[in-house]
Amino acid sequence: MDLIVRNARLASTPEALPVDIGVQSGRVVALEPNLPTNAPEYNAGGNLVCAGFVETHIHLDKSCIIDRCPPETDRQANAVPRVAAVKHTFSIEDVYDRARRTLEKCLKHGATRMRTHLELDAGVELRSFEAIEQLRRDYAWAIDLEICVFPQEGLTNNRRADELLVAALKRGAKVIGAAPNYDPDHAGQINRIFALAREFGTDVDMHLDSGDSPEAMDIDLVCELTEKHGLGGHVAVGHGCKYSTMPPDVLKALARRIASAGVAVTVLPATDLFMMGRDQVHSVRRGVADVNLLAEHGVNCSISTNNVLNPFTPLGDCSLLRMANLQANVCQISHAHRLRECFAMLTERSAKLMNLSDYGIRVGNPADIVVIEATTPEQAVAEITPPLAVFKRGVRTVTRPPAELHRP
Ligand SMILES: [Zn+2]
Repeated sequence: MDLIVRNARLASTPEALPVDIGVQSGRVVALEPNLPTNAPEYNAGGNLVCAGFVETHIHLDKSCIIDRCPPETDRQANAVPRVAAVKHTFSIEDVYDRARRTLEKCLKHGATRMRTHLELDAGVELRSFEAIEQLRRDYAWAIDLEICVFPQEGLTNNRRADELLVAALKRGAKVIGAAPNYDPDHAGQINRIFALAREFGTDVDMHLDSGDSPEAMDIDLVCELTEKHGLGGHVAVGHGCKYSTMPPDVLKALARRIASAGVAVTVLPATDLFMMGRDQVHSVRRGVADVNLLAEHGVNCSISTNNVLNPFTPLGDCSLLRMANLQANVCQISHAHRLRECFAMLTERSAKLMNLSDYGIRVGNPADIVVIEATTPEQAVAEITPPLAVFKRGVRTVTRPPAELHRP
């Protein structure tokens, strides 16, 4: 063997005794206590171990631009036009440099797999795509990065965006997304995106149902098209802020509908908290979908970062554990089993959303191993305990020594 990670408390079975993880040629080859071998060792010391955090929804291409965007005025976020106003500054080198800084923070917080949502329109042409493609290749030693291309500034009214989506799909973009809120014809955009997904055989991951009231939701059409095209398990939607404005019984019925269609839901608590309720000046509504409730009614869900240091979210440290903690805080999640579910929404459930069949610490899978300074998933979420070490395919990529007190 090439490596043994000893005394690993598996996040999937934290009550069981810690085991040793044997690694050879980048894969897990043994999972048992007291593995006899003389391979190099890392002692996890009984800490929690998982296969890494799975970021299903982040925007690397427009991260770290808040210092160049025009400031907010009044209570209006106007995030899309404020980003559009600086897109001419997005050279390939500029996008690469900002995305690299954000990606490296994600790595240090334990991400091993990622889907980045990348916008295409005349403002950026394929410059962001080329930069992120290069980044994907350059950082393959640390993370599996998947690109989801989408039109942020309209599609049915934006012919160039449509041409660029087709061009990026031909060049190998793995997933197609949407943002119908910024299109005069929501249904037209959603139909076109499903048609492209069918043509290119990609999964779908849309920005959907962001807003302050339950009116005019797009989820019914998405469920309908998912069923019509037999794409259950291959469609996800992000945000769902409108679901947080529905009474529980109505929401439970919607959850069952979403679950039966096989559509997954990603909540983006930082952006949703920052962007929603802009019509109010006090008692501001939260606008964050309760993904625990959705999951309890059969929906696969993930919790993700979305935007970092831009007009959609001018804050952020790229820690997914902090996102789960924020989600639990906002949606008033207290029971241990529900906090554990929030952890699954950064790991197993996120991997399922992305159809990553080789995720998880199991014999035969890639040896992606993240050691977290906790003994249960619920503790990791409640206390935002840091990752101590990260291995990608059996090779150490991150070390974060625990903080030390220097007593007098
Ligand atoms: Zn997004």
